[in-house]
Amino acid sequence: MINFSRNLAQLVGLVCFIGLFAIMGCHRNSGMQSASSRKLSAPSGDPLPVASLTQGVWLKGDLHVHSRHSKESSNNPIAKILAFSSKVGMDYICITDHDNHVDGDVAHHTWADPEFTSDSLLLLYGAEWTTTRGHGNIFSAKPYDHKRLFEVRDQRDVVVGEVKNKLGIHLSANHPSGKDHFGYSYDMLESLEVWNSVLWSNNANAIMIWDDMLSSGRKLTGRGGSDAHHGLPDTPELATKNSPQAKANYVGTPTTWVFATARTSQAVVEALTNGRVSVSANPFAPRVEFYADSNQDGTMDMMMGDNTKAVGKPVTFRVKLTGNTVAKEPYTISVVKNGGLFGTFQASGPTPTAEFTDTPPSTGRTYYRVVVEGPATAYPQVPESAALSGKMVGLSNPIYFNFDPNF
Ligand SMILES: [Zn+2]
Ligand SMILES: [Zn+2]
Repeated sequence: MINFSRNLAQLVGLVCFIGLFAIMGCHRNSGMQSASSRKLSAPSGDPLPVASLTQGVWLKGDLHVHSRHSKESSNNPIAKILAFSSKVGMDYICITDHDNHVDGDVAHHTWADPEFTSDSLLLLYGAEWTTTRGHGNIFSAKPYDHKRLFEVRDQRDVVVGEVKNKLGIHLSANHPSGKDHFGYSYDMLESLEVWNSVLWSNNANAIMIWDDMLSSGRKLTGRGGSDAHHGLPDTPELATKNSPQAKANYVGTPTTWVFATARTSQAVVEALTNGRVSVSANPFAPRVEFYADSNQDGTMDMMMGDNTKAVGKPVTFRVKLTGNTVAKEPYTISVVKNGGLFGTFQASGPTPTAEFTDTPPSTGRTYYRVVVEGPATAYPQVPESAALSGKMVGLSNPIYFNFDPNF
């Protein structure tokens, strides 16, 4: 789903609808408890998070790609997607073909394709759940019975939620402010596509929805997805009217980084659920890392996605950009606190870093997340992408205080 000339008035209308939906959807149905119970948080009363900041590995990938098994894709066999992904250094990939194009049977199409194999990439199992109420992606470390979810697509949320929980899958809302936005309860979700495709400017309303969901108490991971459908044609005769998209939007625009406890598909899905996630404009753009020292002992003890109890004392936060930073101009780091701008910082040098201190109150929920803008990083394999992502470099997931993991 990429519309390079989206109508602004239409988007505003959609957001009004989704805002209303958010207000109406604030009561979680107890039948829909989800994988969110695995989300990282400290035991009640303990100000420190439970997961290590050092025992893990950063892995990058794309969570929304269509292959030839989606009817409207072109020149995009799985082998081409995987070869490209390896070439640009991806660690994992999820091919998410439209399930309705194969009558729900992704297991005998995408997953059974002889090309669905890789020595270098972790291949997640998933699909784009394509329904009359909108689109969502499923992510799973292992094959699951996708047909069961396909079969209940027109039923009530409580039925869908039960099936989803039985399957043990991660469900994610796609392009939430665009055409075919996710029209089910956000209580069923583990994540939300806050950055769909290379056109960053189209995602402003998705970010607004994310902030509204966070503000309502949902601990919901923000992630990216290129939604690429079209590969470069091997010969000029194979070109379609959509082939030019391959030079502007392809695997990695944007790239989702996860801090996984191991280099396994299961750890990738768990990191996505836990929110130890940031999104970068492309695989070569700097990675945004966001940490906090919640007990002021001089050592960072939390990272994005972590949730702890606020004790009413100051907390020091650190934002760090790692990887290929471009030295020619500084990066601008905007800190968002509870949906509003908390502050803006400039950072430069080989590892641009910014620190700030704030005191999250001991009562009520507080979250902080960061957005980084600055010079674009070249992505020669998708040569027209840098101009379209513009100054957007990357964004982090929030650090949370006093969120209820069982909301
Ligand atoms: Zn879609
Ligand atoms: Zn899609």
